[in-house]
Amino acid sequence: GFRSRAAFKLKEIDEALHLLRPGQLVVDLGAAPGAWSQYVRRKFAPKDGGVGGAAVGELNGTIIALDLLDFEPIEGVQFIQGDFREDDVLAQLRDAVGDRPVDVVVSDMAPNLSGIEVSDSARIAHLIELAIEFSQQHLKRDGALVCKVFHGSGYSQLVELFRAHFRVVKPIKPKASRDKSAETFLVGIGLKRAGVDAAS
Ligand code: SAM
Repeated sequence: GFRSRAAFKLKEIDEALHLLRPGQLVVDLGAAPGAWSQYVRRKFAPKDGGVGGAAVGELNGTIIALDLLDFEPIEGVQFIQGDFREDDVLAQLRDAVGDRPVDVVVSDMAPNLSGIEVSDSARIAHLIELAIEFSQQHLKRDGALVCKVFHGSGYSQLVELFRAHFRVVKPIKPKASRDKSAETFLVGIGLKRAGVDAAS
C-alpha cells in the first residue's frame, strides 16, 4: 500500500492526463511522507520489471523528492531535506537535476496556515510562484507542473499565473480530496517559453 492516501490524488490526476511514464525525470516537492514518490516509482518499476528493458527492481526513471521533513527512504528516490523557499535548498535541488530536462514537477506543498486569510493566501501563492519559476527553468518544453492550490482568495490569480506560463492549464479536483473542500490542483502542460530543451 501507499504511505498516505495522498497517492490516490496523484493517481487520479495522472489517469486523467497521462503525465507519468517510465524513463522520465520527476521532481516531487513537499514529498513527505512519500506517497506521491511511491506512486511515481511504481510507474517507473512495474511489477514485471519489463519496461524499457529495465531489470526486475531496477528503476527506469529518476525521482528527486524534497521536503522540510525527513521521511523513511524510498529505494531509488533521491531526497533533499529543506525549505524550498531557501536559496541553498533550491541550489541543492538544481545540482541534483543538473542540466537534465525535467519531465514533470509535482508539488503537494502546503504552508502551515495561520487562519488569517490574506497572509495564508500570500504564503500559498509564494510557494506556487517558486514552483512555477523552477519549472520555467528546468522543465522540458512539453513538460508538466502539478500544483496543489486552494480555492478562495487568490485562486483566480494563480490560474492566470499558470496561463501566463503554460500552453494548457487544467484545474482538477480529485475525488480523493473531497474531504478537504478548499484543496484542488492546477496542472500546467507545455511551457509557453524557454524550456531547457527549447533550442532543439
Ligand atoms: N504528497 C505527499 C505524499 O504523498 O506523501 C504529501 C505532502 S503533505 C500534504 C505537504 C508537505 O509539504 C509536508 O510534508 C510539508 O512539510 C511540505 N512543505 C510545506 N512547505 C514546504 C516548503 N516550504 N519546503 C518544503 N516542503 C514543504
